[in-house]
Amino acid sequence: MIAVIIAGGKGTRIASIAKDIPKPMLPIEGVPVLERELECLRSQGFTDVLLTVGHLKDSIINYFGDGSGLSPATGKPFGARIDYFEETEPLGNAGALYELRDRLTEDFLLLNGDAIFDVDFNRFVDAHRRMGGLATLFTHPNNHPYDSGLIIADKGGAVVEWLTKEDERPRWYKNRVNAGLHVLSPKLFEVRPDTPKVDLDRQILKPLAGTGELHCYDSPEYVKDMGTPERYAAVCADFKAGIVNAKNLRNKQRAVFLDRDGTINKYVGFLREPEEMELLPGAAEAIKRINESGYLAIVVTNQPVIARGEVTVEQLDEIHNKLETLLGQEGAYLDAIYYCPHHPDKGFPGEISELKIDCDCRKPKPGMLLKAAEDFNIDLSQSWMVGYDERDTESGKAVGGRTVLVESKNGLLSAINRWADDCNSFQPSE
Ligand SMILES: [Zn+2]
Repeated sequence: MIAVIIAGGKGTRIASIAKDIPKPMLPIEGVPVLERELECLRSQGFTDVLLTVGHLKDSIINYFGDGSGLSPATGKPFGARIDYFEETEPLGNAGALYELRDRLTEDFLLLNGDAIFDVDFNRFVDAHRRMGGLATLFTHPNNHPYDSGLIIADKGGAVVEWLTKEDERPRWYKNRVNAGLHVLSPKLFEVRPDTPKVDLDRQILKPLAGTGELHCYDSPEYVKDMGTPERYAAVCADFKAGIVNAKNLRNKQRAVFLDRDGTINKYVGFLREPEEMELLPGAAEAIKRINESGYLAIVVTNQPVIARGEVTVEQLDEIHNKLETLLGQEGAYLDAIYYCPHHPDKGFPGEISELKIDCDCRKPKPGMLLKAAEDFNIDLSQSWMVGYDERDTESGKAVGGRTVLVESKNGLLSAINRWADDCNSFQPSE
């Protein structure tokens, strides 16, 4: 599969760091970010690369050549076949793809040359093939969803709505943001829009929302743009700490599993309405600390209100949308939420009898942790379960994980601070 990398953009907001080099040549620990991208692709078998270049293109072409040489930074072979499309006038970020139609005869990767990423691309491509359609977006939660575009999808991953930053958004929403990595069908580029420049998001992809031809692939892997000096500095620090590489799902992940009611949000008994979802003091700060540690932050919660017929799955989604919105406003995010909808005791009016079972996922049983471990390649023995109830710690111990009991109902932040001290969390696993 060919990887097309857009390496032509100007870096206006980051000009204070790099005035005379193009953004794709910004160094991350001494190696250009574009070379880091190529190495990530090459190591997974993606060796056919097309670079679209424009702004300051000579420095890129002179550095990489046709990919058969050695890296000036590392002395190692690039190990790729690199070809270029040179824009003589700005065509927008999708304009070049129409000129490259002859080269793009099957589905291809389209990546952004000034973002740092370390992603299991074969897993991404497999998801695209499984879901079908003309395009799949790589999506993830980020720490500023309130000023990011949002992707709204159904349970099967079909994108139903694409909201740009400017669009009006629902009051409560899932933190799901387009990361700028795509698998695309060349069929999208058969007829060129009649504009001098073509914008990929607005003119090609956004109109596919709701047609069944556009899907999203949610992943917690590391993808960050470096559009401002602050973000660039953060990316460099994460790279140095090993977090960028560690989060590739080919590697075993580590997680902090969090109970929900009484740990993250106020305990109100059975929580049935979004209005009743309120964060406990310090909860967002604690989760932000987990996010920054490189551990996954995953909620596992017993929600027998579903089996009791008191809350529908749609209503529970809305409650979780509120949780994600509130966390996002404070710069924190969850990598996933798992819930057990079951309850063992039958015989109450209004109940959903097929959910009244003795399941494997209701804590203290470890079913949700086992499912998450399968979904995200998690090493449970290196993971933690955090809650204020013995049922939580029992479910963690049942899978060989370690546990932290939150001692008071406002205690998540102090528990996470203790956790961070205990487990030298800032050292990623190899
Ligand atoms: Zn269950």
